[in-house]
Amino acid sequence: MKGRIHSIDTFGTVDGPGIRFVLFMQGCALQCQFCHNPDTWDTGTGKVVTVEDILSEIEKYLPYYRRSGGGITVTGGEPTLQAGFVTQLFSECKRRWGLHTTLDSSGFCEPDHVKALMEVTDLVLLDLKQMNPEKHEMLTSRGNDRILKFAASLSEWNKPMWIRHVVIPGVTDDSNDLRALGAFVGGLQGVEKLELLAYHRMGVFKWQQLGREYPLDGVPTPTEQEMKRAYRFIEEGRAAVERERENIITCRDCGQASGQANTVKHWICEDCKVNEHTIAVKISSK
Ligand code: SF4
Repeated sequence: MKGRIHSIDTFGTVDGPGIRFVLFMQGCALQCQFCHNPDTWDTGTGKVVTVEDILSEIEKYLPYYRRSGGGITVTGGEPTLQAGFVTQLFSECKRRWGLHTTLDSSGFCEPDHVKALMEVTDLVLLDLKQMNPEKHEMLTSRGNDRILKFAASLSEWNKPMWIRHVVIPGVTDDSNDLRALGAFVGGLQGVEKLELLAYHRMGVFKWQQLGREYPLDGVPTPTEQEMKRAYRFIEEGRAAVERERENIITCRDCGQASGQANTVKHWICEDCKVNEHTIAVKISSK
């Protein structure tokens, strides 16, 4: 089977566990404003290769991948656009060498389209770029409903996932959007890690080479404090969902948790000690 690829990195260390063979597929249906590989977008360019071509490249470096607990990661572009090719590649990597397989995806695909691929995928790196649908469309050219549906399917299949979110000052770091992200991720099964990636401008020269105007001109990379702030809001969202799941009631005014909803109906918040809160409390219906 043939596929269209953009490039290969034989020594990847950030896209999954251990040292990895990273294959960048050609073609993407999104056009993210922060994309550092806009030259992967066009589905009609890139290099045409066979699965066997890629396998013989991997074979040269196998000891590194094995010894480090690494494997192969297929990214892009959007790898699910060529799901048949990637499925065959992953199947062979597993059959020949028992290699760990990772798919790095934007999630912009129909779950049914990747069922066979998921059977030979050990880990999915899923980018959740923005929870607000309108802002998502502005940022990537498409809405996020399909992506969230894909994430929900991965959760249903209990597929191990690492969720990634790029923090772009003024674009993806609104406190409510981050809380919503935390709440969404907190409701998923199979999430092993949530990685916040600091926005960087390393791909700007590619936009210039392609004669495209860079949409985020003037946007700075986030500071360490801004990254910490983003973590905090995401954690708040996640913790709120966790409390809800555990059926714990919280004070509407100060946010402190107090007691199980099934056992306590009226209470005085220990933290703010205002009696009125006994009727302001949210009681879970579980
Ligand atoms: S999904 Fe990835 S490859 Fe596609 S436009 Fe967005 S950042 Fe670029």
